Amino acid sequence: MLIERAARLLIERAEVEGRVPCCVRIDGGRIAEVARELAPRPGEERLDAAGGALLPGLHDHHLHLLALAAAERSVRCGPPEVSTREELARALRSARPRGGWIRGTGYHDSVAGPLDRRELDALAPGAAVRVQHRSGALWVLSSAAVERLGLDRGEDAPGVERDAVGRATGRLYRLDAWLRERLGAEPAPDLAPVGARLARLGATGATDATASNGPAELALLEAAAASGALPQRLLVMGRPELPEPSHPRVARGAVKLVLAEAELPDFEAFAEAIRGAHGAGRAAAVHCVTRAELAFAVGAFAEAGAQPGDRIEHAAVAPPELAARLAALGLCAVAQPHFVSERGDAYAAEVDPADLPWLHRARGLEAAGVPLGAGTDAPFGAPDPWRAMRAAVERRTVSGARLGADEALAPERALALFTSPPEAPGGAPRRVAPGAAADLCLLDRPWAAARDALDGGFVAATLVAGRVAYRRG
Ligand SMILES: [Zn+2]
Repeated sequence: MLIERAARLLIERAEVEGRVPCCVRIDGGRIAEVARELAPRPGEERLDAAGGALLPGLHDHHLHLLALAAAERSVRCGPPEVSTREELARALRSARPRGGWIRGTGYHDSVAGPLDRRELDALAPGAAVRVQHRSGALWVLSSAAVERLGLDRGEDAPGVERDAVGRATGRLYRLDAWLRERLGAEPAPDLAPVGARLARLGATGATDATASNGPAELALLEAAAASGALPQRLLVMGRPELPEPSHPRVARGAVKLVLAEAELPDFEAFAEAIRGAHGAGRAAAVHCVTRAELAFAVGAFAEAGAQPGDRIEHAAVAPPELAARLAALGLCAVAQPHFVSERGDAYAAEVDPADLPWLHRARGLEAAGVPLGAGTDAPFGAPDPWRAMRAAVERRTVSGARLGADEALAPERALALFTSPPEAPGGAPRRVAPGAAADLCLLDRPWAAARDALDGGFVAATLVAGRVAYRRG
């Protein structure tokens, strides 16, 4: 394991919480001093901030690191890269198979309608293709892929869709872990490009919200933390069986519970799962993208009792009566504001008109007293917190329409979505102050010049525990 050297660093001429110029001394991974002037000490490295804003490092409160690493080696199958059936066929046919497979991600029905094996066979004849739907809940396999996995010969799992005569349609629901096990020999995805990309965007931490995370996934993430491939702090959610991590930059997060409106679980059993998480000293995080899912989750938390750290992932549809109950229970919500820009135009056609005013809310939730954090949900959303912040401020779709203008946040609130503590999304933002961990994001300009554009390109340096994870140039 790499020994993590404690850095001694003096940051000079920074803007800190609106004060400029400021010096910030870092020692032992923490902020030791903040003052107008500090004299450099022998052996201390120096970093000239040149007047740029020194912010708490960003924490992406919801993403999927292993899926993001895998997506880097996959064919994009949905908007904005691929929008038509012809573009999809071209993308799949020109893809270079890995281990005999073509892996696609980000599919949306607007490209070529609902996919099944026959449609994939027509798009990429003869190839073993698997395409993940943008929702993350569905994989679609071509006939060659179905054949490889033996799905027509009775290999089965709940979630393998079959037609009237029992033949696999190629559609696999919520079978990620099962599929990974079947595919077996796939090399572990390389997390270094993901770690570098997040560092470049000022992210000093990330919460992996993958429901199926268990011992194997934790081992991959801890190995990446130990090797430096992932320089960030990680909070790992997952199954009840997720072990306690041992790497100092990796912590265990909530038990992740997934709801799907089409097949809601037994209410008592679900409340018991929340109690089970609490009994094991963990919080519970519930995936809710519809009104009914949120109502179910809120009911279950009321039944089981809510604890600090309990959270609602997405809260994509949150009408006032449910927002009030979230606040009363002390549940925080982890939103994806950039879905407004990335998916907003499709929502107008797809979402129940009664739900539209309550879609991807931000300001209304905060006003109702719901602590609100945000995550990119990468790879299902773009892995750029700045884009999410910008969307939270502008609430514009790709076509330029505004969606839920009342829900827009001021840039400072948008930033705060990503600067609350990892275990308390929406809690008081972390500060650049003595005693705090030196997890920092340095911009190349003052906040006043950054707040109107909120662009990841402004990040000049990223420090995790005082160590430079990224420095421009
Ligand atoms: Zn997610």
